[in-house]
Amino acid sequence: MKNDLTLLLKALAFAADKHRHQKRKDAEASPYINHPIALANVLVDEGGVEDIEVLCAALLHDTIEDTDTTQEELVNAFGSRIAHIVAEVTDDKNLKSEERKRLQIEHAPRLSVEAKLVKLADKTCNLRDIVVRPPAKWDLTRRREYFDWAKRVVDGLRGVHPRLEAAFDAAFAERPA
Ligand code: ZN
Repeated sequence: MKNDLTLLLKALAFAADKHRHQKRKDAEASPYINHPIALANVLVDEGGVEDIEVLCAALLHDTIEDTDTTQEELVNAFGSRIAHIVAEVTDDKNLKSEERKRLQIEHAPRLSVEAKLVKLADKTCNLRDIVVRPPAKWDLTRRREYFDWAKRVVDGLRGVHPRLEAAFDAAFAERPA
């Protein structure tokens, strides 16, 4: 238990440091780290997830994609299972946005259960953010398009965690009209 908490806090500190110069896209430019924390919170609080490595992966989920972090760095700091989950939910930034979005839909069914949990929480948090503190530059069409795309990704993940899937569906029900 003590080791678990130590690892969790290490992941939180690591992510906070890596994302330290980044902000969310909302009007207030919230600190980026709020987003990984929100994912971990959804997994624990709404999903009852107790697997510490899944929670660490949630905290670290955007470090490879959005910072200079490498998978090797995560393996060394957190072990191969956590690093692998993070790698699974990382887009290839060499590809154009359209292609990355298409691949997320295509890859969703083949993700590990652990990666599916992280992705479910990620999409749920993003939908909630769009409703509560929308990206400043996104018009209504773009917000709706994000909702519809997120649902297509999540539809490919279903069957792993009914409560988290219900949390996503509740978030989706707030799709901007
Ligand atoms: Zn994310």
